Amino acid sequence: MKNLLITGGSQGIGKATALEAAKKGMFIGINYNSNDKAAEETLSEVKELDGEGVILKCDVSNHSAVKDMFENFVDTAGSLDGVFNNAGTTGPVSRIHELDPKDFKSLIDTNVIGAFNVAQESSKIMIKQKKGNIVNMTSIAADIGGAGELVHYAMSKGAVDSLTYGMAKELGVYGIRVNAVAPGLIATDIHAKAGDALRVERLMPSVPLGRVGLAREVADTVMWLLSEKSSYVCGTIVRISGGR
Ligand code: NAP
Repeated sequence: MKNLLITGGSQGIGKATALEAAKKGMFIGINYNSNDKAAEETLSEVKELDGEGVILKCDVSNHSAVKDMFENFVDTAGSLDGVFNNAGTTGPVSRIHELDPKDFKSLIDTNVIGAFNVAQESSKIMIKQKKGNIVNMTSIAADIGGAGELVHYAMSKGAVDSLTYGMAKELGVYGIRVNAVAPGLIATDIHAKAGDALRVERLMPSVPLGRVGLAREVADTVMWLLSEKSSYVCGTIVRISGGR
């Protein structure tokens, strides 16, 4: 794999994946939406590892911006070999009856419409190329439901599960593999952004392995799915949850 675009590649799991991809000599498109400093820092860390890349500022919920981003990436890199469709948010921690509808809409815009926009534009390019590899980002929340805190988020990731199963069947016939990763509790800033900085500590007792996961542990699985080591894996959602 030569050219990989990572949405939400500037922080957390996306950043850890960019750093692993840099070690493998890939050219990396680092997409983000708002935090310019984090994106610049990630690109400079990629370069310190002798990697190459470009930062791509674009809100994944904006379809025409996503289309332009993919076209620009292919113009620069020459091809689109892999996509990690990772950008996402939890929205605020809230019970269903207390959630502000504006927060719900914003969450669906990013996690569902954004994931679909990225899936659609990368599919167009990969179908023409007759090759490619897509890894979607879901969550074990889609299975366990997120009751009491993040049902809205769990629901949005349920849509990504369906997207993954459908895409794998539609694109497999062109030689394009589509899979997803479903992490559990991973140490990134996403929990603080949800307004619950102690979320990891609070939920730790529910993890059979007894610890929080690292972004790098998710990145390792993504790199495996993007590699030929997983050449017959297609339409699979890999749980990375410490048994939770
Ligand atoms: P994070 O550290 O908060 O990073 C989120 C990344 O997504 C940032 O690069 C952010 O960039 C970008 N982003 C957010 N909204 C965007 C938008 N509208 N357009 C483009 N980029 C956008 O979060 P993370 O924990 O790494 O999460 C990454 C993915 O893993 C998410 O889909 C999340 O749901 C999923 N996940 C995380 C966990 C966990 O425990 N951490 C567990 C399961 C699944 P800007 O800040 O610049 O917008």
